[in-house]
Amino acid sequence: MPLEASIDIGSNVRAVLESIEQATLRAGRPPNSVRLVAVSKTVGVEAIQQAVAAGVTDLGENRVQEALAKTSQLAGEAVAVHLIGPLQKNKVNRAVQIFASIETLDDLELAAKLDRACERLGKQMPVLVQVNVGQEHTKSGIVADQAKEFVHQAAAFRHLSIRGLMAIPPYSEDPEDIRPYFSQVRRLAGHLAEQRFDNVSMTELSMGMSHDFVVAIEEGATRVRIGTAIFGSRV
Ligand SMILES: *Cc1c(COP(=O)(O)O)cnc(C)c1O
Repeated sequence: MPLEASIDIGSNVRAVLESIEQATLRAGRPPNSVRLVAVSKTVGVEAIQQAVAAGVTDLGENRVQEALAKTSQLAGEAVAVHLIGPLQKNKVNRAVQIFASIETLDDLELAAKLDRACERLGKQMPVLVQVNVGQEHTKSGIVADQAKEFVHQAAAFRHLSIRGLMAIPPYSEDPEDIRPYFSQVRRLAGHLAEQRFDNVSMTELSMGMSHDFVVAIEEGATRVRIGTAIFGSRV
C-alpha cells in the first residue's frame, strides 16, 4: 500500500487551520486575517477534494499545465487556485483563465503579456510581486532595492491589481533564522504602501510554508502556502 494512503488529509487540514488561528490570535491579529493556501502541486485530485471537504478554500499550484488538468476536474468545487511558481510567457493565456491570483510576478515583459491577456478576457487579475528576499541566485523574484521601481512600472498595467508581496526566504531548519527575512518583507511592503502608487495596495503578504508558517504569521503573513503539513511529503 502506498504510504500516502495512511495520511489523514482532513485531520491535517484541521490541525493546520487550528495552528493558523492560534498563531494569529497570539500575534494580536484579527481572526481570519490569515488565509490558508494549500499547496497541491504533485497531489492528485482525490486528495485535493479531501482537503476541500475539510475546509480548504484556496490551492497553490506551481505549474500551469498541471493546474489546468486539475481545475477541469475540480470544476464543481468552490476553490480558488493561485499560481505560486514561475510563469512562462507562452502559458500566460491559459494562466489568466484558470488562476484566481498570480503570486509570482517579477518581470515587466510578463506583466505586459498578462495585462493584454486579461484585457482580452475582460478580467482584472490580482497579482503579488515576488521578492527575492535572500538575494539567492537560484530563486526568482525582484531584489528589494529594485522593488519600488518595479512596482511603479507594473502599476501602469491596468488589468493587473497589485495586492502585495510574495517571498520564499532562504531555507533554514530553525524557523527563527527565517524571521528576519519575513520582517524584511513586511517592512518592504510598508515602504511600498507609503508610495501610494495608483492601482497598488500592499495588503497581502504571501509568506510561510509548512515548517515556518507560525513565524511568518507573527511577522504579518496574510497568506501561508502549506503543502507537506497537509498532503505529506512529495516524492
Ligand atoms: C512547494 C511550495 C510550498 C509548500 O512547501 P511545503 O514545505 O510543502 O509546505 C510553498 N510555496 C511555494 C512557492 C512552493 O513551491
